[in-house]
Amino acid sequence: MSETYRPENNNAIETKGGAGYPAPSQSPYLAPSHIEADRGEIIGLCPSRISRADILALGHPTSPIKAIRANCLDCCGGSEGEVRKCVVTACPLWPLRMGRNVYHANARGRHG
Ligand code: SF4
Repeated sequence: MSETYRPENNNAIETKGGAGYPAPSQSPYLAPSHIEADRGEIIGLCPSRISRADILALGHPTSPIKAIRANCLDCCGGSEGEVRKCVVTACPLWPLRMGRNVYHANARGRHG
């Protein structure tokens, strides 16, 4: 049984580190690794130990498909057109880049 992680100070996640990410020393979702080989390296907590409410409060997309779409937009500098035209068919996200789960039968019918 896993224990749900609760940050002691939600305000800490507002502090940004480099590249728009929270500074490791100030994020309640980052902590030194307990694995000896990592030598105290700061790692992200397992998301399954963080409550859904806290994850949503961080502003993450609310579904895996939305997360993939957001990642593709980030990959293409925010351009929806470039995501649509993506030629990297070998990318594991390529079939899902338009924000639809093509593996669901009724999603395929919308585009013929
Ligand atoms: S599918 Fe294309 S746009 Fe999406 S992450 Fe892969 S390379 Fe980037």
